[in-house]
Amino acid sequence: MFGKPWQGIIHEYAPLLPVSIKTPIVTLYEGNTPLVLALRLQKELGIRARVYLKLEGLNPTGSFKDRGMTLAISKAVEEGVKAVICASTGNTAASAAAYAAKAGLECIVLIPDGKIAKGKLSQTMIHGAKVVQVKGNFDQALDLVREVCELKPIQLVNSVNPYRIEGQKTAAFEIVDALEKAPDYHFIPVGNAGNITAYWKGYKEYQFRKKNILPRMMGFQATGSAPIVRRRVVKNPDTIATAIRIGNPALWGEAEKARDNSDGEIDMVSDREILTAYRLLAQKEGIFCEPASAAAVAGLAKVAKRKRFTEDQIIVCTLTGHGLKDPDTAIGESCDDSITIKPEINELLKVITI
Ligand SMILES: *Cc1c(COP(=O)(O)O)cnc(C)c1O
Repeated sequence: MFGKPWQGIIHEYAPLLPVSIKTPIVTLYEGNTPLVLALRLQKELGIRARVYLKLEGLNPTGSFKDRGMTLAISKAVEEGVKAVICASTGNTAASAAAYAAKAGLECIVLIPDGKIAKGKLSQTMIHGAKVVQVKGNFDQALDLVREVCELKPIQLVNSVNPYRIEGQKTAAFEIVDALEKAPDYHFIPVGNAGNITAYWKGYKEYQFRKKNILPRMMGFQATGSAPIVRRRVVKNPDTIATAIRIGNPALWGEAEKARDNSDGEIDMVSDREILTAYRLLAQKEGIFCEPASAAAVAGLAKVAKRKRFTEDQIIVCTLTGHGLKDPDTAIGESCDDSITIKPEINELLKVITI
């Protein structure tokens, strides 16, 4: 009851992060997100192991990107940089824009033309970032920002920036702190592959703290943009899960290492499977996540069909972003369920079946 107030991931985990007392901490008090036991989901999927959901949508801008961004922006300020830039499917842009605003830095974001969810675009714009739409996909936008950083004194804050990974690894620390050990399996969506890399790094670095086990890292891509699974670059990636609509992951090799060294898997799930998991989470657990996040649970559902988990095992799924990020998908998936009536009690009684 009298624990010290949470002041963000840098304050909490400073000894394990690349910061010094000279680092000016730019924080919106990210991290410390809930790890929720999902009993109804467990039952629905016929899983005997305990299933926990790490609700990263509850970070300040609604996605896990804030964990990496607090560190990337703090280091940019420490290094005297005046502007930051990123390519983004949306959440990196929203997070960079918010933390840059807090730090008083200029922020430029490149987004794939027309393929960004409304919530993310609205955040990026209101925080005052310069939004540049690129007539192309995420991978092309990332190539462009990498090139411009060679030419201008601007800091790149995509997950190729190592501080992003360092910040994001703190989610694994929190999970181990909460469970008092690492889980047996960790399910996570894979886009640019920064997050799976970060969690694996975090679990390894925290191993000394608690029981000496590491989870199997279970990464999931969308069928229409699954370069790691297919072992080739996907030229025109496509999926309803726009946050993982990436055809050439920047941290491809690192993701493969996380998979292989943890004895895990990287597989893919279809948009239909993703949307089924998305509804299941909303309707059985009361958790509204964005479609990309549901890929982790779709992956768990897929694995549970062929594998028997046991009662003593623990599974964690990271739900990477909040459902409000992408209202169009939620409404599009639910429009059949809406009923319109005249303002009369008899009309209302007709539609209530209880
Ligand atoms: C960025 C993002 C991902 C993908 O993470 P990577 O680090 O690119 O693999 C998944 N879900 C959401 C909501 C994201 O914002």
